[in-house]
Amino acid sequence: MLLKMEEFESEKVIKDFEELTKNAGKVQEETLKKILEENAETEYLQLLGLNGKTDVESFKQCVPLATHKDLEPYIQRIMDGETNPILTGKPVPTISLSSGTTQGKQKFVPFNDELFQNTMQIYLTSFAYRNRDYPIQNGKALAFIYSSKQFTTKGGIPAGTATTNVFRHPEYRQLMKGIQSQCCSPDEVVFGSDFHESLYCHLLCGLLYYNEVQFISSTFAHSLVQAFQTFELIWEDLCSDIRDGILNERITDLPTRAAMSKLLKPNPELADLIYKKCSSLSKWYGLIPELFPNAKYVYGIMTGSMEPYVKQLRRYAGWLPLVCADYGASEGWVAANVNPRSPPESATFAVLPNIGYFEFIPLKESRTSEPKSIGLSEVEVGQEYEIILTNFAGLYRYRLGDAVKVMGFYNSTPELKFLCRQNLLLSINIDKNTEKDLQLAVEEASKLLVAEKVDLIDFTSHVDVSKEKGHYVIFWELSGDADENVLKECCNCLDRAFVDAGYVSSRKVNSIGPLELRILKKGTFYKILLHSLSMGNTLNQFKTPRCVGSSNKSVLQIVCNNVVKTYFSTAY
Ligand code: AMP
Repeated sequence: MLLKMEEFESEKVIKDFEELTKNAGKVQEETLKKILEENAETEYLQLLGLNGKTDVESFKQCVPLATHKDLEPYIQRIMDGETNPILTGKPVPTISLSSGTTQGKQKFVPFNDELFQNTMQIYLTSFAYRNRDYPIQNGKALAFIYSSKQFTTKGGIPAGTATTNVFRHPEYRQLMKGIQSQCCSPDEVVFGSDFHESLYCHLLCGLLYYNEVQFISSTFAHSLVQAFQTFELIWEDLCSDIRDGILNERITDLPTRAAMSKLLKPNPELADLIYKKCSSLSKWYGLIPELFPNAKYVYGIMTGSMEPYVKQLRRYAGWLPLVCADYGASEGWVAANVNPRSPPESATFAVLPNIGYFEFIPLKESRTSEPKSIGLSEVEVGQEYEIILTNFAGLYRYRLGDAVKVMGFYNSTPELKFLCRQNLLLSINIDKNTEKDLQLAVEEASKLLVAEKVDLIDFTSHVDVSKEKGHYVIFWELSGDADENVLKECCNCLDRAFVDAGYVSSRKVNSIGPLELRILKKGTFYKILLHSLSMGNTLNQFKTPRCVGSSNKSVLQIVCNNVVKTYFSTAY
């Protein structure tokens, strides 16, 4: 009966999405009109002299492009307790704290009911398409989800990470019936006070329901990899908890202990089975389908800065498909994955035309002083754009900072490939290298490690301009020891792999010094993760900082204090 209900709802969600995307241009105009009408009385729009106009032309004429920095003073006043309409017509009930791991600075942005509804629409849309390709039947999900601590702003508004605000929303459970309500772990685990404890219990719950788990998910691929890396270390403890029916003493949170003790009963057969499964695996290849024989797929964001974790995730996932989760930010959602069969390398996201008004600036123009944007219907396949967001949460022509490429159209809405965060990561003089350039260079150089049977665990970078001549520093954490000569060659390869003309010419005339490769102690990136969590982030939203600027002192200190070997390039 329940299954029928789910099928019916999935079909309805798909039908709605098909309708919305058939005339995406028109839906965009209506959406802009609605946003501007609902927020016409706000101080922000009033000051810009929009005078109640809601058409695209007037909007673009009156409202300037804005960055987070432009909006910060307004958001601050909201956080300080001003209740007059500043950015949104209705008072802002909650504030989201973005992960900030990419740039080292956390951003506060409004989170309201409309944003919550958008989140649900995105989740349900992509779930409906996923369910069509990989149907879930009365199953459970092993979802590695964690809630961050909430705090209250000076003006009394609750604040937390965007994912936490979603999980804590009173309607979340009801609306997600059929998706997250299948989560194996009780709420006490999700909302537990310590992420180590929550992770341990998520894994334990997954094992208790091993036969019912139909998919494994997390917000980002990083936390999936992190979960199974942890499993490698603690699986025997998990087995003994199952054998004896007693929760390990490391779990100290009382509500979590109480909730888990309701699930745990002595089960030596299950403990033996898991022990046998784990002992049979070579290098943990195919761990996920081995443990969860009825799992259909592994789900999470695996694109953009998460791509480097796909290789490690594939090792655990074995033959199970990796399905990419949707595209959005704490500031607002953009697009859903409606082609769940696409592997992470070619995943695209179809823009939802009713959740915001989207503009696109051709990448070539985005660094000019007056970049011109075009609408969603005007984008061209194969072209790259910066994405601009106007939404129901008080953002108007907001530069999200992401670069995307249009890969095609789903009906008449663009299908986007996420390229990268647009800000330059590595730049000393005329050289310009983005996160993607760094990722490609690292990918190229780390191929040399294959023969050494050593994996690259994670990487970051830094621009060292402390001496007269600046140079790039790349930090690598490896799974084991590699030969000196191989690492020297990796360093040279990295230097050569930055092919941007500015970098190459600067290196040739030695105005940029030799690239430096620093090998880090094992566990260094874990320390960075712990640091980020101590700053209020959650594991759900953690992204490894791909470049550590001098202003990010604490993370720079962590990497610099954990260097075991250093190599300088002789490539030029
Ligand atoms: P946050 O600042 O924590 O809200 O993270 C939002 C940022 O994460 C976005 O602006 C993107 O750069 C990145 N992001 C979100 N979803 C995806 C995705 N599906 N693929 C790649 N990057 C993503």
